[in-house]
Amino acid sequence: MSKRTEICPICGSEKVERFETISKAQLTVGPSFTFHEIYYKCSTCHEESDIFAETDKNYLKAQKEAEAQWIKDALNQLADLGISMAFFERAFELPIRTLTRWKTGDFSSTSLALLRVMKTYPWMVEVAAHNFDPLFAQKSMQETLVPQRIIFNLGTPLGESSSVSTLISSLPSSSVGMGE
Ligand SMILES: [Zn+2]
Repeated sequence: MSKRTEICPICGSEKVERFETISKAQLTVGPSFTFHEIYYKCSTCHEESDIFAETDKNYLKAQKEAEAQWIKDALNQLADLGISMAFFERAFELPIRTLTRWKTGDFSSTSLALLRVMKTYPWMVEVAAHNFDPLFAQKSMQETLVPQRIIFNLGTPLGESSSVSTLISSLPSSSVGMGE
């Protein structure tokens, strides 16, 4: 292995010392990850620099690994919701085995973007499976808003909340009137 010459890019001195720390970063959606931050300190001019751009390389590699893991987890979680990879591909008219490629690490920023949307709104796959029919899309969206509507109705005057009362009375008593 050839030794790279460590020369201070500021003053040209060879009196540089290598330092390494572990830093943490966060995926937009998903877990945090760590990477090795490398810098060289010059004992002549006291400047610090990443001479061989190692930090960038380490960061991108660690980020890619974290994204690959997130994609695997996301696809497993969608499968748990009944959204298989084959169904996903059919619904979005993706070539077969596209998601298998993603799951094995061959993915793009577009793959990540679509999966982030799908993880946030899993019911979108049904909308896609219905050829993005606007009426079906609207109905699906309203159905996902039901829980919020129930919460909202709890604060409305008597008479409008009969279905909510039924719902509450059907809940186990331990979950009603907590802290009263
Ligand atoms: Zn220097």
